[in-house]
Amino acid sequence: MKHQQKEAIHQLREGGQSYASIADLLGISVNTVKSYCRRNKLGGIALSTTEPMNETFCRQCGASLKQIPGKKQKQYCSDRCRMAWWNAHPEAVDHKSLREYTCQTCGRVFEVYGKRERKFCSRVCYGKSKAGQV
Ligand SMILES: [Zn+2]
Ligand SMILES: [Zn+2]
Repeated sequence: MKHQQKEAIHQLREGGQSYASIADLLGISVNTVKSYCRRNKLGGIALSTTEPMNETFCRQCGASLKQIPGKKQKQYCSDRCRMAWWNAHPEAVDHKSLREYTCQTCGRVFEVYGKRERKFCSRVCYGKSKAGQV
């Protein structure tokens, strides 16, 4: 692996990307990414590719969230993101407008407020779809 690829893996893992999406982005095999991450302790509970449905993301920035078992699921990585999201979605105050969609990129079911049709759970998935990486 090239040095730049290793750097990129570190950055992408810290950004909450899955092994599969990193492999996609860098054009290398998933196994290469996996074994590299294992060797360098870049794995993690929320980042496991075997249970992608347990992975949750910040609604605002799409960062991977670490959920604490037994506690209410977090939806934002930080208070800042929570505020930013609510500021950007004033219509969300109306709970009747909550709708469920399935992400066309990762297949995750997600809920959004408002009347606008949504096809992607996050900006990351939207970007991937636009870049034709799905
Ligand atoms: Zn966030
Ligand atoms: Zn998605």
